[in-house]
Amino acid sequence: MVAEQLEPMPTEWTRALAVVAHPDDIEYGTAAAVAVWTDAGREVSYLLATRGEAGIDGIPPEESAELREREQRASAAVVGASTVRFLDHHDGVIEYGTALRRDLAAAIREHRPELLITINHHDTWGARAWNTPDHRAVGRAALDAAGDSGNRWIFPDLADNGLVPWDGVRWVAVAGSPQPTHAVDVTDGFERGVSSLLEHRAYIEGLTDTSPETYARNVLESITGGGAAPQFGGRPALAFELFPR
Ligand SMILES: [Zn+2]
Repeated sequence: MVAEQLEPMPTEWTRALAVVAHPDDIEYGTAAAVAVWTDAGREVSYLLATRGEAGIDGIPPEESAELREREQRASAAVVGASTVRFLDHHDGVIEYGTALRRDLAAAIREHRPELLITINHHDTWGARAWNTPDHRAVGRAALDAAGDSGNRWIFPDLADNGLVPWDGVRWVAVAGSPQPTHAVDVTDGFERGVSSLLEHRAYIEGLTDTSPETYARNVLESITGGGAAPQFGGRPALAFELFPR
């Protein structure tokens, strides 16, 4: 049976903002697409809701936050992301709600992206692989904030701080969704995608006994090859569920 084919991602945009929960969320595939996009002269910025301070079992949060922030900045540099900002939500207990929506709407107004990228907001990664509460909260809040950003009456105090409404988000692209609709060819960004994940060395070392080099390459091959490729002409690809606005 031929797998249903994914549509190519839209190309009529110049600025993207990736909004995720944790350092490393973007590096599980999306960074390879970021490399392709920045090569083409597009601007991609990163916004992280937390510093991923609860992400490494053997390292206490205060120490981990600093380390993971450093690793995230190095990852972003590998693929040419313009800016990396961190909000001060807490890893593991991010609450979906107006505080989070407001923070994301503020960032969208500041960056004025046409493309908003986020992480899987669904309950699962597919089948019965349960997603984490942080991803669900941030993914859903990002989808909502694309609209909040354009409405001057929802968070009226943002405009008092110079953040005027931006209703220019044309698509929200959800990475890691179990229901992908679109994809981007990441042939030219693949190696930098591996390198960007590898920058999360302390995190990977805390996760597995496999060497970080092998781990990062296997992950990227599995996401871009085994995952999306059969639905995208056999090319290494990163898939997104696209919500047009
Ligand atoms: Zn995560």
